[in-house]
Amino acid sequence: MERDQAIFNLIAEELKRQEEGIELIASENFVSKQVMEAAGSVLTNKYAEGLPGKRYYGGCEVVDQIEDIAIDRAKQLFGAQWVNVQPHSGAQANAAVFLAILKPGDKILGFDLSHGGHLTHGSPVNFSGKLYEPHFYGVVKETGLIDYDQLEETARREKPKVIICGASSYSRDWDYARIRKVADEVGALVVADISHPAGLIARGLLTDPLPHCHIVTTTTHKTLRGPRGGMIMVGQDFENPWGIKGPKGDVRTITQLLDLAVFPGTQGGPLEHTIAAKAIAYGEALSDSYMDYIVQVKKNAAALAKFFVEKDYHIISGGTDNHLMLVDLRNKDISGKEAEAVLDKAGITTNKNMVPFDTRSPFVTSGVRFGTAAITTRGIKEQEIVQIGELIDEALVNAGNDAQLAAIHGKVVELMGQFPLYK
Ligand code: PLP
Repeated sequence: MERDQAIFNLIAEELKRQEEGIELIASENFVSKQVMEAAGSVLTNKYAEGLPGKRYYGGCEVVDQIEDIAIDRAKQLFGAQWVNVQPHSGAQANAAVFLAILKPGDKILGFDLSHGGHLTHGSPVNFSGKLYEPHFYGVVKETGLIDYDQLEETARREKPKVIICGASSYSRDWDYARIRKVADEVGALVVADISHPAGLIARGLLTDPLPHCHIVTTTTHKTLRGPRGGMIMVGQDFENPWGIKGPKGDVRTITQLLDLAVFPGTQGGPLEHTIAAKAIAYGEALSDSYMDYIVQVKKNAAALAKFFVEKDYHIISGGTDNHLMLVDLRNKDISGKEAEAVLDKAGITTNKNMVPFDTRSPFVTSGVRFGTAAITTRGIKEQEIVQIGELIDEALVNAGNDAQLAAIHGKVVELMGQFPLYK
């Protein structure tokens, strides 16, 4: 076959975009070369339905070892008793958890999407809001902090089967112990989706949900800095609460139900190339250099938040405990959509985001989300964060001035040239 130059040219173009720009999308990162190498390896050729040692295909003796290493490293990294590394994505991990423990029509209680939650936590446009009966908690308008009183009241009134915590754009730590207390009172299970702060949690920089939450899900490609994918963990196996049955009508343990919900419940063959890349990323996340990295991610986010506050930008909740922040632009006379487009012209990549109690639509929004996981991988420290903050402010102030935005783009390329990607 001839080399498909059309696609490879576009990949080269994308590499250039990544190299030259300031990547501030909170859910993105740059994986190591060895993670990419594994993700693009011959393992993509292999079918391996089932689990290591219990497959529905022959020839799995090598991939079994790879998947076992991924599982062992994930357990070590998070202190989990049980892990399934097969979910293709964060959404797939959440779908498998709900399939394992809920019946259609059951009540779930999640963090409102428009306040910072995720689609898979009960949004009406997602399977989670279509198959189950969603109820929501949000943040307190004045503080931007999770409204735990509202969460408790709703839990007591609705008696959901599952309370989901975790978010896509919430910059503060979670009180998992408080959520578990009300869950025990109403007979609910607690699922924590730590997709965003997983790397900070793994290395002890935020509260660990595993001792408090029955089930924990995550993506592997955000702060964890692995390939795109998902994972499900259980801190300690717990009693099957409602006598939930497996496919043969017999009562199963929770971890057996979770395995069955991944395969055959929601997926076919696992992506063993991705699982190998996950194993490498987990190994990296256990290293001292990753510890330095993730500490710097948090310092950089704090420095960016401080810069914004000093420039009179309104950050929801007033600051950040993790790698991200949500900036409310309503005092700046620019919408989230416009800000995203303006920053794009300047070579700064972000995403527009609803702010709590937003009056604009999800396509327009009043906010922008910023995260420091990716730029910290490039080697950026607090000193450059101030420069980056200034470039963002300059771009937003000059929103209508294309010549000025082109000049800022030039400065962005120059700055990132000092922090080469994939040297
Ligand atoms: N859960 C949370 C909290 C997320 O932020 C995301 C992605 O942004 C997901 C789940 C879904 O992950 P994926 O895009 O891998 O399906």
